Amino acid sequence: MAIEVVLLGTGNPLPDAGRAGAASLVRAGGKTFLVDAGRGVCMRLVAAGVLPVMLDAVLLTHLHSDHICDLNDVLTTQWVMSPTTRPLPLFGPEGTAAVVDGMMAMLGPDISYRRAHHDDLEWDPQFEVTEAAPGVLFDDGAVRITAARTDHRPVDATLAFRFDYDGHAVVLAGDTLPCAGLDELCAGADTYVQTVLRDDLVSLVPMQRFRDTIDYHSTVEQAAATAARAGVGTLVLTHQIPTPAPGSSDEWIALARRHFDGRVVFGEDLLQITTSSD
Ligand SMILES: [Zn+2]
Ligand SMILES: [Zn+2]
Repeated sequence: MAIEVVLLGTGNPLPDAGRAGAASLVRAGGKTFLVDAGRGVCMRLVAAGVLPVMLDAVLLTHLHSDHICDLNDVLTTQWVMSPTTRPLPLFGPEGTAAVVDGMMAMLGPDISYRRAHHDDLEWDPQFEVTEAAPGVLFDDGAVRITAARTDHRPVDATLAFRFDYDGHAVVLAGDTLPCAGLDELCAGADTYVQTVLRDDLVSLVPMQRFRDTIDYHSTVEQAAATAARAGVGTLVLTHQIPTPAPGSSDEWIALARRHFDGRVVFGEDLLQITTSSD
């Protein structure tokens, strides 16, 4: 009886040979959820033992390209591999329906080719988009998913998600500054996964466009302070900006430890974090 999180992709928007784009898998109560769908998500899903057709829902924290750029691959592969119509629930912030409509327009030729070629494929990609408001999104009596608004302005709206199951809770936040909604969502959770930035390094980059990223991401220290305020047990650092230098994980962890005395995990692709009583 555990909640399992697999960091499918821990990369930031800059392409990296060793890190896929933002995406995480959550497994609890026999259900399988995908949070965000960045670069390479289907390859990493398969590495974690999951095909898109096995997903019970997809949740999007926000509509920045690095978090959704391979959603079309998830939707197409789910469609092509489904033996029957099985709409995939898709939760995201306001604007998600228009983005998915645009993806379907882009995929129009592909959909028509496959429909023309496979007699038994009698339906288009099937999904149900819910533009999520803060509150409970999903509750099957065992697993409950709650959303809260976060602060990644001018990206608006943005969401973080809390998964409660069997007396345990895991929070996955996308890109955000510390904020009241996030504090509330994290309160008492076992595990908190946060996309993070090191302002000490990014501030040195001689390119304003890169330094612009400082003002709308949690620094490692800010994520650690959120973790401490919320009383979580484990803080997981992911989507690290800038791309960590080889062997530098201890530096990132040491920065977090200045503000948080729980367990700190430095995210790598396909790292699994299990939250359980055992
Ligand atoms: Zn991002
Ligand atoms: Zn973002």
